[in-house]
Amino acid sequence: MGLEEKLPSGFALSTVEGLAGYMRKASLWPATFGLACCAIEMMTFGGPKYDSARFGMEVFRASPRQADLMIVAGRVSNKMAPVLRQIYDQMANPKWVIAMGVCASSGGMFNNYAIVQGVDHIVPVDIYLPGCPPRPEMLLDAILKLHDKIQHTPLGSDAVRADLQAEQLALAA
Ligand code: SF4
Repeated sequence: MGLEEKLPSGFALSTVEGLAGYMRKASLWPATFGLACCAIEMMTFGGPKYDSARFGMEVFRASPRQADLMIVAGRVSNKMAPVLRQIYDQMANPKWVIAMGVCASSGGMFNNYAIVQGVDHIVPVDIYLPGCPPRPEMLLDAILKLHDKIQHTPLGSDAVRADLQAEQLALAA
């Protein structure tokens, strides 16, 4: 009996998917994008104490073309919303978004005309992180949860996901 017949059905595909998921999650590069006080905690997370290099992501990228993770750290003003969306559009697929803190997640205490009431009106969000501000350990926990999500994202679903995101955003607009 040949090797192919001995292997369980779907073995090769799941192995390739597992490897791709591992490589994606182990090389997340965040875009440099801080908006308010939460960004201070995000910057602390990037320091040596929290050692994000363990996860292959110690370099925050100044160019969205080189980034695949957007950490929205702080409240989003209506004036900043188009800029944020443009940066998101310039990031390479597949890409992910963490809404860091209550302001980015829901507007938080800034329930007024100037602030977007949740960044998911502008970009699709993968992880909502509560807190005001969330501590760096909480951001680390959110990133590990995102790793798990990335690891279990089937190959080829990125295109479907991008289409769904576009539809959701068109409906929300
Ligand atoms: Fe600032 Fe708190 Fe809002 Fe973060 S959640 S941007 S710390 S007010």
